[in-house]
Amino acid sequence: MFIIRVCFIFFFFLCILPSTVFSSFTGLQMRGGEEEEIGKELFPDILREEAVSRLDELGQVSDADGHLERTFMSPASKKAINLVQSWMEDAGLRTWVDQMGNVHGRAEGMNTHAEALLIGSHLDTVIDAGIFDGPLGIVCAVSALKVLKISGKLGNLTRPVEVIAFSDEEGVRFQSTFLGSAAIAGTRPASALQISDKSGVTVQDVLKENSFDATEASYLQLKYDPQSVWGYVEVHIEQGPVLESVGLPLGVVKGIAGQTRLKVTVRGTQGHAGTVPMSMRQDPMTAAAELIVLLETMCKNPADFISYDGHCNGFSAESLAGSLVCTVGEISSWPGASNVIPGQVTFTVDLRTMDDMAREAIIFEISNRMYQTCERRSVSCIIERKHDAEAVVCDPGLSSELKSAANSALKRVAGEIQEKVPVLMSGAGHDAMAMSHLTKVGMLFVRCRGGISHSPAEHVLDDDVWIAGLAILAFLETKL
Ligand SMILES: [Zn+2]
Repeated sequence: MFIIRVCFIFFFFLCILPSTVFSSFTGLQMRGGEEEEIGKELFPDILREEAVSRLDELGQVSDADGHLERTFMSPASKKAINLVQSWMEDAGLRTWVDQMGNVHGRAEGMNTHAEALLIGSHLDTVIDAGIFDGPLGIVCAVSALKVLKISGKLGNLTRPVEVIAFSDEEGVRFQSTFLGSAAIAGTRPASALQISDKSGVTVQDVLKENSFDATEASYLQLKYDPQSVWGYVEVHIEQGPVLESVGLPLGVVKGIAGQTRLKVTVRGTQGHAGTVPMSMRQDPMTAAAELIVLLETMCKNPADFISYDGHCNGFSAESLAGSLVCTVGEISSWPGASNVIPGQVTFTVDLRTMDDMAREAIIFEISNRMYQTCERRSVSCIIERKHDAEAVVCDPGLSSELKSAANSALKRVAGEIQEKVPVLMSGAGHDAMAMSHLTKVGMLFVRCRGGISHSPAEHVLDDDVWIAGLAILAFLETKL
């Protein structure tokens, strides 16, 4: 008994008392430490495991068997809307679905009337899509806000934060991109409701089928007042190989390239493949081949072709060479038979660069040289301009905030690192293009395997999903 009592006393002094005293002491210390720790906390259960499983779950929500396909207002899109809305509610956000099927989740923070930070990306997909293009930006933002909710900080935001899952960016069904974000940015008139798909069904018809009001008045009310918005941020997969090549998971986007699409029609003399001597041919196919190679040569080395006189001093050869890309993606010939010299060949040109003035200069030069080539080959040439979109420059202040947040996320995960988050150009269009008409925009790119997108092979590492969520969290923490 004595031995037991001695052992208990010994045990009390050695273990229980010190731990009690110590815990009240360290309790104070830990609270101070906890505050510091929250800033360093990595939240892998929410920002990694749950975010990845949500991306997988959304990736199963498809209109087709065997591949991912979710177009504007399709049955799968409606399921996706409900799913995302439930995740937003889980993150403590007030939610609603607007008249164009965009899902909104908003945290008012401390100042309901302050200008709101919008964070968004799109819910729709291309046909046979990957699971990250679009949903990654939505899931990361919702997850980061959920962390703030769990940390008891959601109410401490100094301005409202609203996540928007846009209903249409890819434009698969109506061949018209940004139906969702353009309505909120107010860049497209109410006639957008009358755009029809291949079977003649209009946007308005589809919305009404799904019990949306879909009147011109309700459409126009979707436009946000620029005075009520502080800025727009989008996280998106890179859709290119640069981040993978530099070995970093995140990049800051400096801008989205402007774009011009041309249709080139070359006409020659149709004839028999066996009877017309080579010296007497006016072959539009060989002329088109030369034009396509000329295009590639000029776009690889634009400085060799553009004269930098007083009219073109708004851009530099380096900036043009760094961002100019040209593609011939579609070509057809008439009559298109193996034993006939074609009478006509048409091909498309897709030309993109960050510098709108440089884009004009290179198109002028390309057109001139194409006409000269056609003349030398005795064929006729018509160059039609089919589409133009101006470049969007991301806001330098917002970009620098995103860069700090991305660096902080990398640091949290990997410790001190030497590399700096790279700055990239986006060659692909994004909802940020439409939103730039409403407010300042900033974007973060996330590394994707092989730069592949619009394909089931599209892949983002679980850790990169995590770091993207941490970057948005770090960015949101600057708004506390
Ligand atoms: Zn996308």
